Amino acid sequence: MSEAVKMIADAGPEGQFVAGGTDLYPNMKRRQQTPRTVVSVMRLPELNQISGDERSGIRIGASVTLTDICEHPLINHHYPVVAKAARTISTPILRNMGTIGGNLLLDTRCNYYDQNYEWRKGINFCLKKDGDICWVAPGSSKCWAVQSSDLVPVMVAIGAHLRFASTSGERIVDAEDLYNDDGIAYLHKRPDELLVDIHLPPTNGWRASYRKLRRRGAFDFPVLGVAAFIKASHDGTIEQARIVLGGISPSPIHVQEAGRELIGNKLDEQHMQIAAEAAYIKARPLDNTDFVYNWRKQMARQYTLRALQDLASIP
Ligand SMILES: Cc1cc2nc3c(=O)[nH]c(=O)nc-3n(C[C@H](O)[C@H](O)[C@H](O)COP(=O)(O)OP(=O)(O)OC[C@H]3O[C@@H](n4cnc5c(N)ncnc54)[C@H](O)[C@@H]3O)c2cc1C
Ligand code: SF4
Repeated sequence: MSEAVKMIADAGPEGQFVAGGTDLYPNMKRRQQTPRTVVSVMRLPELNQISGDERSGIRIGASVTLTDICEHPLINHHYPVVAKAARTISTPILRNMGTIGGNLLLDTRCNYYDQNYEWRKGINFCLKKDGDICWVAPGSSKCWAVQSSDLVPVMVAIGAHLRFASTSGERIVDAEDLYNDDGIAYLHKRPDELLVDIHLPPTNGWRASYRKLRRRGAFDFPVLGVAAFIKASHDGTIEQARIVLGGISPSPIHVQEAGRELIGNKLDEQHMQIAAEAAYIKARPLDNTDFVYNWRKQMARQYTLRALQDLASIP
């Protein structure tokens, strides 16, 4: 691991880590990302382990593949929301290559950016790469490309922590604090920092669920993802609640208002409806992914409701 960190430091700004390459290599073919040096992290032993248990929480190495996550007994039994969200990512073949680390650091997506070089040249490029205008919001100085990972909203909702290493040492980051609401600088992370592992918290009575909106159920990126998390007391009163929306803005949206409406109450139909309305109000998708954006906003209400109903059905 220390060797990989040193290699990327030596490569400077033109170096980039690669894991499964299912995001980075297509981006390189389209000349969206153009590193001169790539350092593979697939065979680093420290990044390929799953350890711990549900009482102390588990650590998942950043290079663990999505298939291994889907199939791991401990994750399936104690963190079913993580296995379920991973199972919705792309296709079985891509899940054999794609890793949890690559998924959490996925590039943001936009209809005007995820195109080949000639297509992008045809519109004179855009702010995110090689151009000076945003075609989605031409008056904007900011890029609105969308955070499109299925595991990101789940990790934020359950309160996971991420460990990074570089030649300057290690640091631990709350998943919620990693993402920046800007489609270009979408991570609070330096390029030379290696994601080592992800710590899932102990399962001390919390429940979580994930719902994903996409056109084709077999393989498509989320154009809306809703992760719901609650922890309730013995009598069913909610003590902690988090609703997190993915797939509609450059960073995941933690709908604090929805959590506030749920805390102190039971998970009944009335409070689920109120929380879903809060998610609808907060969701402001733009016209840069699949489906009409107004409809995706409507779906934020419906999918939040469904995610909460899933929680209500977990014993
Ligand atoms: C057709 C298709 C469909 C897809 N559908 C979905 C989908 O439905 N949902 C979804 O979430 N994703 C989807 N993806 C995206 C991708 O396959 C997955 O997100 C996958 O998990 C990415 O992991 P990877 O290991 O291949 O990442 P890579 O391509 O190797 O890396 C992605 C990014 O992470 C960085 N990186 C990787 N590992 C580290 C590390 N340890 N430390 C620091 N930086 C690192 C790389 O530098 C790069 O910037 C799809 C991709 C394709 C091609
Ligand atoms: S949101 Fe705008 S700047 Fe960002 S990728 Fe799309 S068109 Fe380009």
